[in-house]
Amino acid sequence: MKLLGKKAWVTGASSGIGQATARLLAAEGADLVISARRQAKLQQLADELRATGRDITVAPLDVTDRQAVQQVGEQIAAQGGVDILINNAGTMPISPLINGRVDEWELMIDTNIKGVLYAINAVYSGMAERKQGHIVNISSIAARQTYPSAGVYAGTKHAVRAISDTLRKEAIRYGVRVTDVQPGAVDTELPDSIVHEKIRAAVKDNMYSETQDNLKPEDIANAILYAVTQPAHVDVSELLIRPLVAE
Ligand code: NDP
Repeated sequence: MKLLGKKAWVTGASSGIGQATARLLAAEGADLVISARRQAKLQQLADELRATGRDITVAPLDVTDRQAVQQVGEQIAAQGGVDILINNAGTMPISPLINGRVDEWELMIDTNIKGVLYAINAVYSGMAERKQGHIVNISSIAARQTYPSAGVYAGTKHAVRAISDTLRKEAIRYGVRVTDVQPGAVDTELPDSIVHEKIRAAVKDNMYSETQDNLKPEDIANAILYAVTQPAHVDVSELLIRPLVAE
């Protein structure tokens, strides 16, 4: 087991990439703090992973709630801190800019950018004090490319990549490593977060239909495990993982 004795905090652990990552890290011996809004899903996952002998703390929260994220950070600090943050919670209510769905733009900015920053802030100083830690931010292939209807989403993911790269440079002196993980299309609940009905149907038909050979959440979990299990002198700065299709 590669992570025995380590503790990781996984946000967005109630489904998709976060859930698969929580399972894989636990299988490798890590104890976990798992967060998301859907408490029942977290509880179910915690029961499953505790049965394998792991110490699992359920910490439900909304990452857009700065105080709530800070409080979980304080709880974590009081218990000795975490070695790894998987900063994964995110949402994708995309639509053409002409539709002016400002509430949905704000939700993406609040969740995908501010939520990521709040979680970094909740653990970074503790990691720096201990001179040890690894922050893994999940951005997207949309951190490198833009798509019609996905301007704000791509903007948030470009921001996460830029924040990750800056943090990586700053954090080296504190012994903290940073990895930005950029998945292509992964079969998860993410398209369900699209509120615009026509866009949701189109995205589901074109990018997330059963005829597509998309990535599985476990593929991204494997990439994350690779990043967090390298020797101390190895800095896995970025990982771009695409399904094997021409893009
Ligand atoms: P899911 O929708 O399956 O998972 C999203 C997770 O984020 C859920 O656990 C959800 O939990 C949590 N979440 C969403 N909003 C909040 C919030 N306000 N507070 C706390 N938790 C929240 O999708 P994925 O697994 O695909 O998404 C994980 C990450 O991967 C996201 O950042 C996404 O942008 C990124 N990504 C996904 C790709 C894909 O094709 N699927 C491609 C590239 C990147 P809950 O609803 O219980 O709060």
